[in-house]
Amino acid sequence: MPPSVVTKNIVLGRDLSDRCPIDTTYCSCANCRPMKQPAEAFCCKEIGRSTTSWAINFNKFMASGCICQDNRIKSVVGNKIELDIFIDTVKGLSNPENEDVELMGRNYRFALYKKLTIMIHGYIGAKQRMPLPSCLVAFVRATYPEEDEEDYCGFLDAS
Ligand SMILES: [Zn+2]
Ligand SMILES: [Zn+2]
Repeated sequence: MPPSVVTKNIVLGRDLSDRCPIDTTYCSCANCRPMKQPAEAFCCKEIGRSTTSWAINFNKFMASGCICQDNRIKSVVGNKIELDIFIDTVKGLSNPENEDVELMGRNYRFALYKKLTIMIHGYIGAKQRMPLPSCLVAFVRATYPEEDEEDYCGFLDAS
């Protein structure tokens, strides 16, 4: 069964069904990369122009050029020791059948999406997944590369 197409972007508060996820013409920070889902294909600069409560949370982390240049973002992405501690902490707190914990244990990228989401929005519940701008996802992927590209699952695909 093909994966379902997700087009509603909660952060921008609009549907991105008219957007081709591979084409990055929406990007004005120069760091966005092709994505799988239209809903994931958005730029940090678009968040800056949005007024949803999620966008307001993101805007606290907006550096002048790109969200990936914010020192707190850079520090969280780059610190693998802290990420290991985060994974262990979440494992210790959650019930072992939590699917997110399972995914987190074998996937640094997935764990980092969670950690960044908590840093940006606070704890929003295990089930809720908030998309991150394409540039930030690309930054995470570049920092924790996966040998087999086919195994990439987007933040939204993992549900
Ligand atoms: Zn961009
Ligand atoms: Zn950006």
